Amino acid sequence: MPTYDVRTHGCQMNVHDSERLRGLLEEAGYAPVAQGVDADVVVLNTCAVRENADNKLYGNLGQLASDKRRHPGMQIAVGGCLAQKDRGEVVRRAPWVDVVFGTHNIGSLPALLDRARHNGAAEVEILESLEVFPSTLPTKRESAYAGWVSISVGCNNTCTFCIVPSLRGTEEDRRPADVLAEIEALVADGALEVTLLGQNVNTYGVGFGDRLAFGKLLRACGGVEGLERVRFTSPHPAAFTDDVIEAMAQTPNVMPSLHMPLQSGSDRVLRAMRRSYRSDRYLAIIDPVRAAMPDAAITTDLIVGFPGETDEDFADTLRVVEAARFASAYTFQYSRRPGTPAADLPEQLPKAVVQERYLRLQALQEKVSWDQNRLQLGRVLDVLVSEGEGRKDGATDRLSGRAPDNRLVHFTVPAAAAVPRPGDVATVEVTYAAPHHLVADGTVYAVRRTRSGDAWAARQGAPNTRSVVLGLPRVGAPAAAPACG
Ligand code: SF4
Repeated sequence: MPTYDVRTHGCQMNVHDSERLRGLLEEAGYAPVAQGVDADVVVLNTCAVRENADNKLYGNLGQLASDKRRHPGMQIAVGGCLAQKDRGEVVRRAPWVDVVFGTHNIGSLPALLDRARHNGAAEVEILESLEVFPSTLPTKRESAYAGWVSISVGCNNTCTFCIVPSLRGTEEDRRPADVLAEIEALVADGALEVTLLGQNVNTYGVGFGDRLAFGKLLRACGGVEGLERVRFTSPHPAAFTDDVIEAMAQTPNVMPSLHMPLQSGSDRVLRAMRRSYRSDRYLAIIDPVRAAMPDAAITTDLIVGFPGETDEDFADTLRVVEAARFASAYTFQYSRRPGTPAADLPEQLPKAVVQERYLRLQALQEKVSWDQNRLQLGRVLDVLVSEGEGRKDGATDRLSGRAPDNRLVHFTVPAAAAVPRPGDVATVEVTYAAPHHLVADGTVYAVRRTRSGDAWAARQGAPNTRSVVLGLPRVGAPAAAPACG
C-alpha cells in the first residue's frame, strides 16, 4: 500500500481540512506512514496568515526535494491557503512539487496525484469557489471523543489584516439538517464533544435567510442524545445577538466558554482594521454573557502593532484587556500579509516597538489569566480526559483534560483509584492555579467511564491504559492561529 503523510500549518480550518485529506487518501488506498520513514505522498496543508509563511513553505519544500531524491516516485502536494494564493508560483519556485490544489477543491487531491503520476508533470488546480461543501468528503477524525463540525466556510467581512476572504471566498452556510446529521453520526461513533466551526459562526444563516439560525442550531444541539459538550469558534462581536447568549445559557450541553476575537481595544484601530464594532460594544456583550453564565470563561485574540497604532491606542487595548478579564488571550504581533489592504498602509511600525508592546500586553494578560484561574481554587470540576495535552504528565504522573469552560486541568489519580481513558470524565477538585492551567491533586476524585472512552480504547486495541499519545491538536481550544484572524 502506498503511504501518505499530511503536515498541517495554521488554524482549525486547516486542521479539519487535513482530517478530510487523510480520509480521502485512505479511501483512495493510501495508508498512514510510520514514524521516521519517507512517505510515498507528502501533503503540505499550508497557512498564509503567519509571518514569513512563504519562506517557511519554500524552506520545507527544499528539504522535501532532498527526500524525494532519496525516494524515487515520491509525490509532493501543496494545498491550503498559501497554495490558493501562490497558485502556479509554487511549481515555478519548486518544480519538484507534483500537485498544487486550493482551499476549494481538496476533494480533487487523489485524482490530481494520479494524473500527475500518469502524465509525469505537475498538476495545478485552483478553483475560485467551492464545488462541494467539504463536510461531504470522507474524513479521518483525529479524536475518538471530540470532533470538528463545519457549519460554514468563507467570510463576508473585509478586515484589512485578513487574507481569508480572498482565499476562502464569501461565506457559504451548510443546511442545519446536514450539520445535525454529521453531529449525530459523530456521536454514534463515540464522540461526546463537538466544536462548531466557521470564520464567523454567528452570521450562520445569512446564506439561507435566517438571522437567528446560529442560536437555533445551538438549541438543536441540545436535543442530540449522548452529546455532552458543544463548543464553537469563532463568533464576531459585530454580529453577536442576545438570542445566542440565551441559547448558550439555556442549552445544558453548550459549554460556558466563549472565544471572541477583540483584536484591538482602540476604536481608531478597529476602524482602520475595518472591524465594525467598538470596544464598548465588545464589553457590552461579555457583561450579559457573564450575567447569564457566571462560570463562563471568555477568551480572545489580540493583534499588537497594527499600522498607525499609537501609544494611546495601545493603552486602550491594555485598558479593555483589564476590564474584560479574559481567561486567556492569543496575542499576535502584527505582520504584513501580502494581498491584504493593511499591508499597503503607511505607518508600519518598527519591529522593536511592536515587540515591546507585545511583551507588555502578554505580561498584563498573564496576570489577568492567573487572577482568573485563582478563582477556580477549590472548585469541583468534571474534566473530559484528553490525550496529548500534558507535556509533563510522564514526569508528574498526572493526567490532563478540559473543564467545561475549556480550562486545561492536570490531575492526579489517587493510588488504587480507577484510571480514566481519554474520553472518560474525571471529577476532581482544583488545588492549584497557574496562569495557563489548573492542577487538581486533592482527594475529591471520581471517574465516569463513557462511550467516548470505549471508542478511544477500541482505536488503541487496549481497554484501560495510562499511556498518553502526545502531539494531537486539541479540539475545542483555539489553535495557535485563530480561526478568524
Ligand atoms: S478576520 Fe475574521 S471576520 Fe475579519 S475578514 Fe478575516 S475571517 Fe472575516
